[in-house]
Amino acid sequence: MKMLEERIRKDGIVREGNVLKVDSFINHQMDIGLFEEMAKEWKRLFAGKPINKILTIEASGIGIAAIAAREFGVPVVFAKKSMSINLDQDNYRTQIQSYTHGKIYEVIVSKKFLTKEDHILIIDDFLANGCALMGLLDLVRSAGAAVEGIGIAIEKGFQRGGELIRKQGIQLESLAIVESMNENGEIVFR
Ligand code: 5GP
Repeated sequence: MKMLEERIRKDGIVREGNVLKVDSFINHQMDIGLFEEMAKEWKRLFAGKPINKILTIEASGIGIAAIAAREFGVPVVFAKKSMSINLDQDNYRTQIQSYTHGKIYEVIVSKKFLTKEDHILIIDDFLANGCALMGLLDLVRSAGAAVEGIGIAIEKGFQRGGELIRKQGIQLESLAIVESMNENGEIVFR
């Protein structure tokens, strides 16, 4: 998606450790006009799929997923980071390794909001090694729900997540795929 690529080129900052900072329009300050265009693009790409719910993960997926949910006319559920002390049986749980913080944390979704009747579109801001998506897929499968597709804003194509997901036969639509980037601010898109 040209508009997103141009914005990343203009305002994205490459940090050490292969981290792309997009704080000024996605991860801290949010450009809702841009989110609306992204949502329209996902609507076009997933046309004809019987999506009845969007699933994302807190915190940075929530903004884009909320705008996408309005475009699709469906509710959005976000997986919550939880304390493992809480042994509530009414949740599906899984563990995710954080790319940016390195820690392993547990996320939960209430069984009330994810069921076998659901046809899920997963939305997230970044795809790197795929840990966050693997966790979300695990939650959807635990519920017996169907995964209709995955929409990602920025995929880092030089990390292995995209390949892992596409190998599973899931429709994965990343609106910008970074092929390479360096700390001089040179960013090449696929
Ligand atoms: P993964 O689980 O695919 O390795 O990483 C995905 C998650 O890590 C995303 O939800 C995002 O929050 C974070 N992440 C991974 N790479 C980057 C990056 O380059 N920049 C930012 N801002 N977040 C990232």
